[in-house]
Amino acid sequence: MPVLVMKFGGTSVATPDRIKRAAKRVGVEVSKGYDVIVIVSAMSGETNKLVGYVNETAPLFDAREYDAVVSSGENVTAGLMALTLQNMDVPARSWQGWQVPVKTTSAHSAARIEDIPPDNIRKKFEEGMKVAIVAGFQGISAEGRITTLGRGGSDTTAVAFAAAFGAERCDIYTDVDGVYTTDPRICDKARKLDKIAFEEMLELASLGAKVLQTRSVELAMRYKVKLRVVSSFEEQSDDAGTLVCDEEDIMESNVVAGVAYSRDETKMTLMSVADRPGIAAAIFMPLSEAGVNVDMIVQNISEDGRTDMTFSCPVDQVKRAEKAMADAKARGDVNFHDLVADTGVAKVSVVGIGMRSHTGVAAKMFQVLSNEGINIKVITTSEIKISVLIDRKYMELAVQALHDAFELEKAA
Ligand code: ADP
Ligand code: ASP
Ligand code: MG
Repeated sequence: MPVLVMKFGGTSVATPDRIKRAAKRVGVEVSKGYDVIVIVSAMSGETNKLVGYVNETAPLFDAREYDAVVSSGENVTAGLMALTLQNMDVPARSWQGWQVPVKTTSAHSAARIEDIPPDNIRKKFEEGMKVAIVAGFQGISAEGRITTLGRGGSDTTAVAFAAAFGAERCDIYTDVDGVYTTDPRICDKARKLDKIAFEEMLELASLGAKVLQTRSVELAMRYKVKLRVVSSFEEQSDDAGTLVCDEEDIMESNVVAGVAYSRDETKMTLMSVADRPGIAAAIFMPLSEAGVNVDMIVQNISEDGRTDMTFSCPVDQVKRAEKAMADAKARGDVNFHDLVADTGVAKVSVVGIGMRSHTGVAAKMFQVLSNEGINIKVITTSEIKISVLIDRKYMELAVQALHDAFELEKAA
């Protein structure tokens, strides 16, 4: 039997009623002759609630226990989905990550899937089971501890199963009907894309477009998984939604494919650091070891042998970053006068493979922001993206102005 992977996000399984609706979609695919692997997220809001409990209990938590807590939301929906399908007389059962097993690295709260032996589930399919429901977002480490794959990780579970089972397609059911030129929730001119290139989707995702987790796009690209984003609230045809595909499969595209944002960023500045060989390593090694995801980095020109070092990281990692730097200072590894955290910033980025062959995109972006009176605090660029850090209160305005200026509401 051909295998299909269907992933349902938090809003798509938010209530028993919505689970019923999702189960009906699954039933349709079963009736077409597929063996279906369903990956479920926790009910919407549930993971946030669990993360909140952990932070309330221990702000500098042991990541192994964080995973034990936050992985639990998916267990509930997996069981409920199995029960719902059984009510419909569809042979189905649930699997938690460790039962499959979904083998991951030991990088708790940001683990990577290393292997998914398909034998256990395949055997059940051979015995007549039609649907395997797997709790997304979670796995098990070599040490036998429960791990999670980072926020939004059920997308990655889905793609990894599609790769492991050679699935015909991996459908990501969510609360929007595809990938848009920007988040349709903050820009009403956002346009749905029928197709988007892997590389562009990868950048958009890593720059904050949470419609797909970055790692899921990476895996789909590597293992040639046919990846589609579709709405769980509308009737579906086989070509609905957005297909994430190779660049060659897209006939026409705009220079800028989309605008992404990441709301909860912090700009951290180490004031007056001794400028000497090895200083960057002395700062960023302990940050990395403390699990701080440093994004942008700017080192100022030094004066009298001292410089300021600025970096950005997510708001919820500020405490960790501060502790790592205070410890490094106490050890005598880094010498700085002050660490200033500006927690009121957001990152806005434009992405497009067309930038490889078109100049002037950055200049235009800066002009647009200048016209809106928005100050740029930090800039970074790569071959196919430009990102800026700005005050959070201007984030929506910046996204909308850039969407207008690059005429993203119009197809190429
Ligand atoms: P799920 O719970 O189904 O995994 P997510 O909330 O993780 O859903 O992702 C879907 C959300 O991603 C949408 O509701 C939308 O607000 C947001 N989003 C951000 N950027 C985009 C984009 N470019 N296209 C579509 N949705 C986007
Ligand atoms: N429930 C997890 C989260 O909210 C995983 C997911 O939904 O993909 O991040
Ligand atoms: Mg998601």
